[in-house]
Amino acid sequence: MRTDRTFTMLKPDSVEKGHIGAILEKITASGFRIVAMKLTQMTKADAEEFYAIHNERPFFGELVEYMTRGPIVAAILEKENAVEDFRTLIGATNPADAAEGTIRKLYAASIGENAVHGSDSDENAAIEGAFHFSGREMF
Ligand code: UDP
Ligand code: MG
Repeated sequence: MRTDRTFTMLKPDSVEKGHIGAILEKITASGFRIVAMKLTQMTKADAEEFYAIHNERPFFGELVEYMTRGPIVAAILEKENAVEDFRTLIGATNPADAAEGTIRKLYAASIGENAVHGSDSDENAAIEGAFHFSGREMF
């Protein structure tokens, strides 16, 4: 994947609360182009692999439970400086610490159920995008 791309998931809480449209509007209004997108549900094995870096952390079981309990919107986004700019747009992991106007400040309930995922590096953006999408699903 090119380095001006990032990967996101609108997590199950965002889908359950009907926030898909509002969050996508904010993302596109912030200058991101949607390269790939789908509604999908992760299996337990998917979530354990996707979040493998956290598998020793105390919240890992809850994280896997949360991320698999319903559908997510997975998407690849393109913009200059995509990874960093998208992390700025979503805000801190804990919505209590997130800046005003960020997606997590607006839509996240807690540090666990925090509405959206954003890749933390170009390398992980490529890995995570390829985890969810084949080449023919990227535009
Ligand atoms: N998480 C959690 N408790 C914590 C830290 C993280 O439940 O104390 C969850 C939360 O959903 C977070 C995900 O694990 O988005 C991945 O954590 P990370 O530190 O990578 O945060 P992110 O990159 O999503 O901001
Ligand atoms: Mg992370």
